[in-house]
Amino acid sequence: MGLAVTDATLNGEPVGLRAQDGLIAEIGPGVVPQPDDEVLDGSGMALVPGLVNAHTHAAMTLFRGFADDLPLMVWLEEHIWPAEARLEPEHVYWGTRLACAEMIRTGTVAFWDMYWHPEAVARAVEDAGLRAVVAAPLIDGPDAERAREDADEALDRVRESSTGRVRAGYAPHALYTVSLESLEWVARRAAEREATIQIHLSETQKEVEDCIAEHDVRPAFHLDRAGLLGPNTILAHGVWLDNDELDLIAERGATVVTNPVANLKLAVGGVFPYPAARERGVEMGIGTDGPGSNNSLDLFSDLKTFALLQKNDAFDAAAVNAAETLRLGMGDASSLLRSPALHGGDPADFLLVRSGAPEMAMGELDAGLVYAASGGVVDATVVAGRVLMSGGVVDGADEAVRKAQECGSEIGVR
Ligand SMILES: [Zn+2]
Repeated sequence: MGLAVTDATLNGEPVGLRAQDGLIAEIGPGVVPQPDDEVLDGSGMALVPGLVNAHTHAAMTLFRGFADDLPLMVWLEEHIWPAEARLEPEHVYWGTRLACAEMIRTGTVAFWDMYWHPEAVARAVEDAGLRAVVAAPLIDGPDAERAREDADEALDRVRESSTGRVRAGYAPHALYTVSLESLEWVARRAAEREATIQIHLSETQKEVEDCIAEHDVRPAFHLDRAGLLGPNTILAHGVWLDNDELDLIAERGATVVTNPVANLKLAVGGVFPYPAARERGVEMGIGTDGPGSNNSLDLFSDLKTFALLQKNDAFDAAAVNAAETLRLGMGDASSLLRSPALHGGDPADFLLVRSGAPEMAMGELDAGLVYAASGGVVDATVVAGRVLMSGGVVDGADEAVRKAQECGSEIGVR
């Protein structure tokens, strides 16, 4: 049995689609369902690729709305870290399932995650039906050797549970929580094991000042010294990167992921230098960051905020346009994030968007999606040919909400 989409539009033209075994078997104007196909009625809908949330900590849905409106370090040290110390794998599983339900509802088909108990994250992603790159944060405690062994073991556990939709990676947390020696170890191990790397970089000005004071170089050069800047590395934030760092990152082919809403909410005081990065051909993506610091996982809201923030910062309404913002959201501005979309033989990952919704009915689709839409315009989300949401209803969402609430009570944040 396959899946068929009827009467949708693609780039304004009528289109049908058939998916079989997780891939798009046929797409085009004359494509019709086969006898046993599950059918999604696409009338009044636009067929579009799904969104890629390139930086998040999904299970932090458990901390959404908990201890909000505090300075960053007070929020982390006095509230989040003590609560995180009480987390069991089952809490992380349900926190991630809740995040997946929200991402499915708002059109995200794949995400890059960094969080504790990554095997529970991987299990949640598989059960929810999304795609993800899952990594445990590596933080050098008193025993750096142990932290590295844990990271290796975590990678094994995620790989064991892999079905092709989940990939494992390394996630050294940041250069202020991980020693140069451990960063070098990650670069070596990731190359040996063909794994990706995710790390926070230049989120705050203090991080840059401390790095210069301690290591005598700016953060991107410090990571390069460790061998960590390469085409398989995601650099989350990059707010305070200067032009020399952007030149280096462009040359190395690492991807910078901007998180505009989280940066605003945590008041980092700067804006990711997107025009300078674009000019240099830096690979880029966009993320929500964790739901504890955003607080939404609706990437449409980050797309709009990104475009507005960049226009305002440049004193130029033409500084970014809707089409390039949408490409950023679909992972198309990075060879690491990009996945083939909407051609025969590609993975059957796509959305049906209500192009007749009041906020979408007029004007260009790109502009509608970036400036007018919320995730509420997504009617159907399909990943690997499986319908995860249709008619705006996500399979399993009620259970995820109830279980996550129970977990919240258990760890004392609710
Ligand atoms: Zn983060």
